[in-house]
Amino acid sequence: GLAERLQSTMQKIRGKGKVSEADVKEMMREVRLALLEADVNFKVVKEFIARVKERAIGQEVLKSLTPGQQVIKVVNEELTALMGGEQSKIAVANKPPTVVMMVGLQGAGKTTTTAKLANHLRKKHNRTPMLVAADIYRPAAIKQLETLGKQLSMPVFSLGDQVSPVQIAEEAIKKAKEEHNDYVIIDTAGRLHIDEELMDELKQVKEIAKPDEILLVVDAMTGQDAVNVAESFNEQLDITGVVLTKLDGDTRGGAALSVKSVTNTPIKFAGMGEKVDQLEPFHPERMASRILGMGDVLTLIEKAQANVDEEKARELERKMRTMDFTFDDFLEQLDQVKSMGPLDELLGMMPGMNKVKGMKNLQVDDKQIGRVEAIVRSMTKQEKQDPSVINASRRRRIAKGSGTSIQDVNRLLKQFEDMKKMMKQMTNMGKGKKKGKMPF
Ligand code: GDP
Ligand code: MG
Repeated sequence: GLAERLQSTMQKIRGKGKVSEADVKEMMREVRLALLEADVNFKVVKEFIARVKERAIGQEVLKSLTPGQQVIKVVNEELTALMGGEQSKIAVANKPPTVVMMVGLQGAGKTTTTAKLANHLRKKHNRTPMLVAADIYRPAAIKQLETLGKQLSMPVFSLGDQVSPVQIAEEAIKKAKEEHNDYVIIDTAGRLHIDEELMDELKQVKEIAKPDEILLVVDAMTGQDAVNVAESFNEQLDITGVVLTKLDGDTRGGAALSVKSVTNTPIKFAGMGEKVDQLEPFHPERMASRILGMGDVLTLIEKAQANVDEEKARELERKMRTMDFTFDDFLEQLDQVKSMGPLDELLGMMPGMNKVKGMKNLQVDDKQIGRVEAIVRSMTKQEKQDPSVINASRRRRIAKGSGTSIQDVNRLLKQFEDMKKMMKQMTNMGKGKKKGKMPF
């Protein structure tokens, strides 16, 4: 995948004290291949490489003391820019209700995202959304939305499947005004492929509903196809934003990288799972560092803050940024992580850990976490604070005490070191930047 490919390229120059023009060119070749392999749009790749190259052979890199890191920084910044730069918020109408129309192909995740978005708006913005079932074609589509609405205790507007979507949209908005719902989210029908009939109907709904936001829902797993879909929906409907779904899956990342530049509309949200609370505002800079394999520290910290007390989360953040992160902190973090939900998702966000997740033979599961925990708990106080004292005989003792093998212990020590190195790199890159932001 893109992440692994870029990572190994980055690894080559990470430690380099000096980077020549030839080094940069070699690297850019690798990055270009990685991006094409990840299904990033051809034109997008070409422009991207040109921009990075120009900056990377420039003074800012060649004259710097850490050229390897500078190149990574440039790639990271340009990846961020490619995905829109700043995080883009959902529209708010001057006069409520704000009307949001969800469009996209069948199976992209429109209905699920309609519910997720409503949940997000209520939870994070204190809104009172109404869901509108305007997919009258797919069997059980109305039922699906009603079930989700019930689960969230939110109103779902429906007129059955014998009334046109245009009329449903119109009456829903009227009802929302009466009931003082401040958001109306219209779930529309999709097709397997784009066709004129579908587009015509969506245009009619648009005309009547006058949406403040038309969100195109695209399945990130479909790669290059997602880009073509986005392009034609945009031509026909003038979309205002994109929701990328199924980013939790084994996607090649290409869609995230090209959708924004091809349609010139921002990616506003990312679907990270099937559950109603698995929708996240899309942060370009976090996605970029995730792609580069730096882990997504900020999202992790946000989750920690929502679930653990804030002081602890701040302390954790400080430690991750500085270097005084020990096995004691690691243990404490494991405990917190365990109380936060899906383990592999969270571990994937931890620096260094996404590599572990990517390696199929090292699937993160509760059993493995148990093993890791046992190893750390078998260390002495001194060993936890300063793992460098753990020599061969200590390793034997720890393995025995934890009921694991010496290889298990070695592996964990190695991973811990890698993680610290990664953190150090991130911290170095952050020097001279504003506090409280990602170090890029
Ligand atoms: P629609 O045809 O566009 O309305 O698509 P649905 O909302 O019915 O979703 C199609 C399938 O994709 C369902 O099984 C959803 O649970 C699943 N799905 C939607 N969003 C996500 C996501 O972000 N992650 C994962 N893993 N599955 C998703
Ligand atoms: Mg649907």
